[in-house]
Amino acid sequence: MSPEAAQPVARHPMIDGFGFEVVGGSPNGPRLGRLSTPHGLVETPVFMPVGTQGTVKGLTPDQVLGTGAQMVLANAYHLAIRPGEEAVAALGGLHRFMGWERPILTDSGGFQVFSLAELRQLDDDGVSFRSHVDGATVRLTPERVLEIEAALNPDIAMVLDHCAPGSVGLGEARAALERTMSWAERTVRHREKVTSVSPLAVFGIVQGGIHESLRREASERIAELPFDGYAVGGVSVGEERDVMLRSIPWGTHALPVDRPRYLMGVGGFEEFRVAVECGIDMFDCVIPTRNARGAYLFRLTGGPIRIRNSVHKRDTGPLEEGCDCLACRHYSRGFIHHLYLRKEMLGYTLGSIHNLRVFHRFLERARAAIAAGTWERFREEMAPLEAEYRPPSR
Ligand SMILES: [Zn+2]
Repeated sequence: MSPEAAQPVARHPMIDGFGFEVVGGSPNGPRLGRLSTPHGLVETPVFMPVGTQGTVKGLTPDQVLGTGAQMVLANAYHLAIRPGEEAVAALGGLHRFMGWERPILTDSGGFQVFSLAELRQLDDDGVSFRSHVDGATVRLTPERVLEIEAALNPDIAMVLDHCAPGSVGLGEARAALERTMSWAERTVRHREKVTSVSPLAVFGIVQGGIHESLRREASERIAELPFDGYAVGGVSVGEERDVMLRSIPWGTHALPVDRPRYLMGVGGFEEFRVAVECGIDMFDCVIPTRNARGAYLFRLTGGPIRIRNSVHKRDTGPLEEGCDCLACRHYSRGFIHHLYLRKEMLGYTLGSIHNLRVFHRFLERARAAIAAGTWERFREEMAPLEAEYRPPSR
């Protein structure tokens, strides 16, 4: 790495209170960034725990913070259906509602609409579907989604996109891309009205499925629109894992180096490494918390463990030697095994704390390696870890 790599290489002033600068590494490769928001600074590459319903399941905000989280994700679709964005606004907005005073990103719900909702009717203006809660018809348009997000009032809002399954052919992927682009343009036009009331950074999304030509085109076209950041979406939605990993650089290739890059819904050690090498700055995924609830615990050393396994019954050691999480500092593996077998809530909480801490420790090490100019060594050291977790459990 060149000596000048420590100097800021890119800077982009976003709307009031927001900013992003690349402060180290290489502009399109492993890079260190600083994302400024009205609720504080985020050092990137960063992992955002998922709090779909306004809560990272089973954890208090202090516990989430204690794992090393800098920023969390919530879901506009779920919160608009229950309790409703007006209820969240009446309770003081999303930060007050959740009790989380640090940055928040809301996903638009495009992924949920296209993966969960039944009786979906899609047209170029928007999408209508039956609520999975009470069967009522819900209509979402890009404008409506931005208004919901503005009412929730996070720091960063994602545009509504058309997230097609990873298996679709070229024709369907092309249609999803065109719709996504049209909705992105409408979001840009509508944000003037919406964000004059509440400041909100807005990120565009690269679609295009598993098709290289479409992904590259999507990257070029979305980069022409004035978003505060750009996400690569529609990945890890049923396509082969190798294809997903290969498609990341197609999606990032035209993105401006001075804006944050977010890889949506992808989590895993090889995934992080490959994406960071494409200049990705932000990640989110339910894998650490969902797997913790399933008694599957990650480790940076020693391989994953299934904590219900009887081999742990009399183990006096921590879940992972050297882990500084609350669970590893205070409790034996045998005790946590007991909690899981008895289905005690504290077990799921401690497992989630540990798994989140492992993901944050990985990216903390990645940031340290980029800062020190030792990425290649980090990559070699992490190769056995990548092998242990292939294929990922999702
Ligand atoms: Zn731990």
